[in-house]
Amino acid sequence: MAKARLVLEVMILLVVLAGNVSPWVLDVLEGSSSRYCLSWRLAVEANNMCAWRTVPPQCLHHVENYITGSQYRRDLDLIVDQIGAYVDGIDMSGDGMDAWILDVDDTCISNLLYYRGKRYGCDPYDALGFKAWAARSECPAIPAMLGLFRRLIEAGFKVILLTGRNEESLGEATVENLQSQGYIGYERLIMRSAAYRGQSAVTYKSAIRKQLVEQGYRIWGNIGDQWSDIQGEFAGNRTFKIPNPMYFVP
Ligand SMILES: [Mg+2]
Repeated sequence: MAKARLVLEVMILLVVLAGNVSPWVLDVLEGSSSRYCLSWRLAVEANNMCAWRTVPPQCLHHVENYITGSQYRRDLDLIVDQIGAYVDGIDMSGDGMDAWILDVDDTCISNLLYYRGKRYGCDPYDALGFKAWAARSECPAIPAMLGLFRRLIEAGFKVILLTGRNEESLGEATVENLQSQGYIGYERLIMRSAAYRGQSAVTYKSAIRKQLVEQGYRIWGNIGDQWSDIQGEFAGNRTFKIPNPMYFVP
């Protein structure tokens, strides 16, 4: 029995050293914690876990492995493929009012470098820390989303970037960051002005979308990493939720 256990442990060690860690090996290594974190992340993405404040500490490495590894990129690629298939079937009007709405943070550009210092969401939200990070204009583009952004513009859609970032304090930094990362040619960047301060993302974004629809835009699609990006009124003909297991925005 002890010999069999030793053989198993050596096999696991060899697989780990080879860098080819299969899910069942991870399960053996991490046991029920790994399985719990998979369930937790699924519940987060399906919006069954509402208003959660921090990533459970036992899921730090699970979230880190997911968001920095290939699975996150594969998940994004699949979603972008689905969006592309939907886009191909849209009958454009030709009047210049066919629009898409994209969220900014962790949809167009990534805050992963910042959240690494926040233990991938195990630490609570730090408004001042995030503001200082965003002011540096160093968020890298999320490649799959930049590709989609360009595709939408080439197809003739008006791409409207809608973010809860404060316009007064982060306006210039956000414009600069988006431009430096290749987000060029969007119709509008709408940031949170003083009139919407203190409102939930759902209330604020719904109000903006209502104005856009009243201006004549047809919102064909709406993409965000938070459920609050895609809930509420005038959400769009189709909505797409991209993964984010690091934080929850109400
Ligand atoms: Mg976001």
